[in-house]
Amino acid sequence: MNALGSYLIKLIKAQGPITIATFMAEALGNAKYGYYMKKDPFGQKGDFTTAPEISQMFGEMIGLWHGINWLNMGSPDKTHLIEIGPGRGTLMQDVLRTMKVIPGLMDAIEVHLVEMSPALKTIQAEKLKGYKAPIWHNRISDALANARGEPVLIIANEFFDALPVRQFQKTDNGWHERLLCLNKKDEFVIQLAPAPSPEQIIPSALHRADEGSIVGICTVGENILAEIAEHIQQFCGAALIIDYGHDTHGTGDTLQAVQNHDYADILSNPGDVDLTTHVDFLRLKEIALASETRTYGPKGQGEFLKSLGIEERTKVLLAKASEKQRTDIQAAFHRLTDDSEMGSLFKVLALTDKSLTDVIGFEE
Ligand code: SAH
Repeated sequence: MNALGSYLIKLIKAQGPITIATFMAEALGNAKYGYYMKKDPFGQKGDFTTAPEISQMFGEMIGLWHGINWLNMGSPDKTHLIEIGPGRGTLMQDVLRTMKVIPGLMDAIEVHLVEMSPALKTIQAEKLKGYKAPIWHNRISDALANARGEPVLIIANEFFDALPVRQFQKTDNGWHERLLCLNKKDEFVIQLAPAPSPEQIIPSALHRADEGSIVGICTVGENILAEIAEHIQQFCGAALIIDYGHDTHGTGDTLQAVQNHDYADILSNPGDVDLTTHVDFLRLKEIALASETRTYGPKGQGEFLKSLGIEERTKVLLAKASEKQRTDIQAAFHRLTDDSEMGSLFKVLALTDKSLTDVIGFEE
């Protein structure tokens, strides 16, 4: 067993079984052994590739979306551009380069990065060297407290899928939480808590789910969305959340592990494999709606990028490209937008202040 595995075994022996959420939080964020805390997981040599690492066009479309919103907000003097979970800093670099084309915008924005990983903070600093130094925060609450009274432009790509999720399973006597336990050989096993949990934890649409159904609840993500919505409603702004997930309250165990671009066992090497779950976009949308912000989507990433002009941008890049670059650009366009790739599994949800109209990218 690796170092984090041994730590979790000690923890369970001392405290008893832990929730799937605690397991995910430790596996990804443990200060010493957590997956994101110790390495750069992105790209061909890493474990997985995200949209901004596929092509600059992804960040360009997002920069354009936020830039136009800023204009529609009346070009406020001071605006906080906040990225949550910035990875290698590639997306922010592409966003900032695009924002330069909008007069006045670069002078108005202050860049904030919400990142828990010291290893990734170093990579982000290096990537964004050509720009005014960003300000880092460990938590979104700190970034929003800092922006109090001022508008925000928020980006979160593949952040919500990394947040800890509690899992519950329906039995003949209610919903029982799934817990990480140890068997007699001190191996990890997932078992149900002996007593049922209060039914209110489960979205009411799922109360009648079949026996055996599993439901994931991401309280951390729900709270983050509520905080963002409250800030936008009070102080103006817009947020773009992009992730893979479903737009209905689904059932099923969506917790998955990925290593070297392939699926891996969830329990075998905690801290060495990436863990994610499908994002429940409907739940996030319900929270946003309750806050009196305006919400858009969720819409498939492919349609969203196309309505922002990614096809035209592809043509412009192709016209200037070498033969080899042409193949890469076409492949990137396909990967980002096609329904068989990231086009519809990945979804985009936007929140804006009520006063913002003419929000692009969500026309039917
Ligand atoms: N947006 C980037 C990276 C996505 S991976 C891209 O598209 O390439 C998830 C990112 O979120 C990583 O930077 C990871 O370190 C960060 N992260 C995950 N959980 C976090 C948490 N609870 N608090 C702050 N950052 C977190």
